[in-house]
Amino acid sequence: KTPVPSDIEVATAQTPKNVDDLAREIGLQPHEVDLYGKKKAKVSLSVLERLKDVPNGKYVVVTGITPTPLGEGKSTTTIGLTQALGAHLKKNVFACVRQPSQGPTFGIKGGAAGGGYSQVIPMDEFNLHLTGDIHAITAANNLLAAAIDTRIFHESTQTDKALYGRLVPTKDGARKFSPIQMRRLEKLGITKTNPDDLTEEEVADFARLDIDKSTITWQRVMDTNDRYLRKITIGQSPTEKGITRETNFDITVASEIMAVLALTTSLADMRERLGRMVVASDTKGRPVTADDLGLGGALTVLMKDAIRPNLMQNLEGTPVFVHAGPFANIAHGNSSILADKIALKLVGPNGFVVTEAGFGADIGMEKFFDIKCRYSGLVPHVVVLVATVRALKMHGGGPKVTAGAPLPREYKEENIGLVEAGCSNLRKQIENALHFGIPVVVAINGFATDTESEMQAVIKKAKEFGAFDAVICSHWANGGAGATDLAQAVERASQQSSDFHFLYDVKLPLEEKIEAIAKKIYGADGIELSEQAQAAINRYKSQGFNDLPICMAKTHLSLSHDPERKGAPTGFTLPIRDVRASVGAGFIYPLVGTMSTMPGLPTRPCFYDIDLDPDTEEVKGLF
Ligand code: ADP
Repeated sequence: KTPVPSDIEVATAQTPKNVDDLAREIGLQPHEVDLYGKKKAKVSLSVLERLKDVPNGKYVVVTGITPTPLGEGKSTTTIGLTQALGAHLKKNVFACVRQPSQGPTFGIKGGAAGGGYSQVIPMDEFNLHLTGDIHAITAANNLLAAAIDTRIFHESTQTDKALYGRLVPTKDGARKFSPIQMRRLEKLGITKTNPDDLTEEEVADFARLDIDKSTITWQRVMDTNDRYLRKITIGQSPTEKGITRETNFDITVASEIMAVLALTTSLADMRERLGRMVVASDTKGRPVTADDLGLGGALTVLMKDAIRPNLMQNLEGTPVFVHAGPFANIAHGNSSILADKIALKLVGPNGFVVTEAGFGADIGMEKFFDIKCRYSGLVPHVVVLVATVRALKMHGGGPKVTAGAPLPREYKEENIGLVEAGCSNLRKQIENALHFGIPVVVAINGFATDTESEMQAVIKKAKEFGAFDAVICSHWANGGAGATDLAQAVERASQQSSDFHFLYDVKLPLEEKIEAIAKKIYGADGIELSEQAQAAINRYKSQGFNDLPICMAKTHLSLSHDPERKGAPTGFTLPIRDVRASVGAGFIYPLVGTMSTMPGLPTRPCFYDIDLDPDTEEVKGLF
C-alpha cells in the first residue's frame, strides 16, 4: 500500500498464526514449547540436546554503517531479509533479535520491531512486557543491590561472632554451611567443614565481606527513562542509622545480568556467571562477588525462565527469536547466544539464521565477533552491512540530522556528490568486516526520497571497496518481496569460503587489546589512558581479569570518540576515561567519554501518542 501506513497499523492489520502451529511447522515438539498466550512461546534449551547431531545452518549477522540518530534500518532489514528468505525463497530461516527496553518505547526512539512491512508481530507485545524477561532481570539485579547495602549495614552494626552466628545458623541440631557458603570457604582457602571448628580469625574472615563502599559498581535498575534517578542518596530513613550512600539507577538493559543472559550457553553456565559477577572490592582490594553475598543460586532461580528464548513471528509468518537486549555501549548489544544456537539447529544445514548486532559495524559487529562468537564458538558466514543514502549524505558533509526534527533539504533532493563523499564511512566499515575474514553484502535500505542514481553510486563504491555484492532493497515498503535480491546475494555469499578470525588474542595485555580495536577498527593513531583508566587496568590485572575480551563503550555516531566527526576520521588519539569490568558477563569495558546508562524523557515523549481502544483492546500509537 502507498503510502505505507504507520508501523502499528501495518502490524495489527496482519493476524499472526497461532504460535503452537508455528512451533510445529519449524519442528519443535510439544514438550519443548511453553505457550504464553496464543502469539508467544518460550522454547526449551533441551532442543539443543535433541538436535545436537544436526549440522548448523548458515549464520548471517546484520550490521550497519555509522548511523544517523534516526537509525538506518538494521532491525527492519533483519526482518525483511528473513521474510524474503523464508516466504519468497522458501528456505528454512530464523531471525534472532533483541528485546527492546521500554525506556525508548515510551521515550524518544519508539519500538524496535522493525518497520513498515518488515516487522515482528504482535509488535505491541514485542515492545512491551513480552514474557517478562526484563522484569526478571530487574528483580534479580535489585535483589543483589539490596543484599549489598544490607550486608554493609549488618556488618557495621554486629560483632564478628554475632554476624557469624546468624550467617551460619543451627539446623537440625547442628550448625551447617549452605552449599553457597562452602564456595566462599573454598575461596578463602578454609578447608574445615564444621562451622564450630573455625578459628576466631577465620570466623571474622568468613563473616565479614568488608566491602569498600567507594568501590561499589552495582547499581539499582528499572526499565523506565527516569533521569531523576541518575544520582540518589539511599538509607535516609532513621532505621538505617545514618548509613547513607550515594548511588544511581541504570536502565535495566544496562544491567550486567542482561549481558549474562545474552552471553550464557546453558543453565549451568548462567549459574556460574551470575555467581562470578563482581559488585565491589573489599578493603584489601579483593573482588567481592554475588556468590560471596550468597546470591548466585537465588539469582539463577529468578532467571530460570528468562534463559529460554521467546518465539514470535514476522509479518510473513516465519519464525523470530526475541531474546535478551543488552545495551550496545557499556555492554555488547547483541541478542542471545542461546537463541542463535537453537535457531541454527532448527533451520538445519540448508537454512539461514539472521541475527542483528546493535549500532554500527565498529561497535555491534566488532563485539559480535570478538565477544559473542568467542563465547559461542559459532562461525559466521556472511555480514550484511546496512547503508542508507541519508546517512551517507551526512557523512559526506550534509547538515546535522536530529531525531524529532524535520530532515534538512539536502536529504530530500538528489545529491550524488554528498553520497559519494560519504562513502568514506562505507569503505571503512566494509574493511572492518573484512578484518574478520567474512564476506560482506551491502544492503542499501531504500527510502522514498532516494534516487536510482544515488543508490547506483553506492553500489559501485561498495563493490570497489571489496564488498562481495551490494543490492538495493525496499522491504520497508514491500515486505519480503522487496528483499529477494538481498536474500539471493546473501545465499551466494554464504557459499563462499571464509576465513573467520578474531581481531586480537585475549591473552594480550588489556592495553594492547584496547589499542588493537582503536587502531584497526576506529582508525585511531593510538589510545590515551587517563590515570583512572590505568589504575583500573592495573587492578583488574592483579585481580586476574586480564584475559577477558574488550567491550568498548563508545559513541555510535562516529567511528571516533567525537560524535560530530563523520565519515572516516583519521589523525585522532582515542581517550580512555575509565575502565570497568563485567566479570560475570565476561568482558572488560573501557569508557570512551561519558556514557549515560539512564536515558531521560524528551519534552514530547512517544507516550503522548499511545492509547488503548477499550472496545477492541487494540493498542494505538506505538511505532
Ligand atoms: P536500526 O535497527 O538500525 O536502529 P530500525 O530498523 O529500527 O533501525 O529503523 C529505524 C526507523 O526507521 C524505524 O522507525 C523504521 O520503521 C524506519 N525505517 C527503516 N527503514 C525505512 C525505510 N526504508 N523507509 C522509511 N522508514 C524506514
